[in-house]
Amino acid sequence: MKAWLTYDFNDMRLEDVPMPHAAPGWVVCKVRCLEVSVTEVAEFRGLPLPSHDNIKRLLSDKAPLQLWGHEFSAEVVEVGANVTNVKLGDRVFYHRGVPCGACKYCNAGMARLCRTVINVSEDTPGCLAEYFPVPASTIVAIPPEISDKEAAGMQPLVSVLGRMETVGIEMGDTVVVIGQGPMGLFCTQIAAVAGAAKVVAIARRDPVLEMSRKLGATHTINATKVDTVEAVMEITKGLGCDVVFECAGGSKDQGHAGVDTFIQGLAMLRNEGRIAEFGHLPVGSMVPIGPIDKKGLRVFGLRSPAPKMINYAIDLVASKRVLIEPTVTHVLKGIEKVPEAIEITGNKAKYGAIGPAQVVLV
Ligand SMILES: [Zn+2]
Repeated sequence: MKAWLTYDFNDMRLEDVPMPHAAPGWVVCKVRCLEVSVTEVAEFRGLPLPSHDNIKRLLSDKAPLQLWGHEFSAEVVEVGANVTNVKLGDRVFYHRGVPCGACKYCNAGMARLCRTVINVSEDTPGCLAEYFPVPASTIVAIPPEISDKEAAGMQPLVSVLGRMETVGIEMGDTVVVIGQGPMGLFCTQIAAVAGAAKVVAIARRDPVLEMSRKLGATHTINATKVDTVEAVMEITKGLGCDVVFECAGGSKDQGHAGVDTFIQGLAMLRNEGRIAEFGHLPVGSMVPIGPIDKKGLRVFGLRSPAPKMINYAIDLVASKRVLIEPTVTHVLKGIEKVPEAIEITGNKAKYGAIGPAQVVLV
């Protein structure tokens, strides 16, 4: 069987490797549809993300290895001993939602606070392959109402829901979503479902903002044409918004906004407003404490999704209240197309892409 093996940053090769087998607690999956996340593209290029040192160590210790690829729809084709949550023939996706059971929080009975999840595609082989082994505890079966394309985009949806749950949306809130990539479009759709009175989508491309409107935004702002803080103040009659989901930040080397949009988010919040960062900001990123202190803002960081959010994600997609397929603008066919998918996903504006490019294997 074929798998993409990573030798170094910017060096990935398609090779024949032995067929994997399922150890106890694991299954072997046949990949049906995959996507390489924007974050993984940045990691592959060696950009200074929080994960960079770990990736560097993995490459120096273990290369070549089956690195990257945790967004997939895959079929369970072999089941190891002691696996009860999935069965042969199930279509599954990875949700990243399992406490480790061994850290200080898990030992103290606070598994909800565990951050030591199993990172499929770093701690275990990734899905840039025809088949790959995966711990059964990290995956969940999907119902027939969910397509392979949708399932491949569901890991980020679960991740978004985990963080949105901690921030909370109250009925009648004005929610601003900065950035309308896949994460931002999820925030836009979920805010509309979760009771926001106004959902304000901010992006730099008009076709993307048209999509935001179709998916539930009540207001759209093109950040290249107006001052976004002023525009939000106008929409909220000078009060400021209740919630900001910041989904445009990240390394400027990859076309993201650095911390600029986070700082704008602080400026557009009302007193005691809430803000969550969804981008992967470069290590050492600095933001001013002034507006946080002065307005009593609440800033929300990473959290692992509760099991309830995994089921919620499945219900939202199966019932078509959250749409994933409109964000899938580029679909390629065949495992050999992975580098092309990386190129498109790493240069979405150039290719007119919204979500990551998908690669269909079956
Ligand atoms: Zn733990």
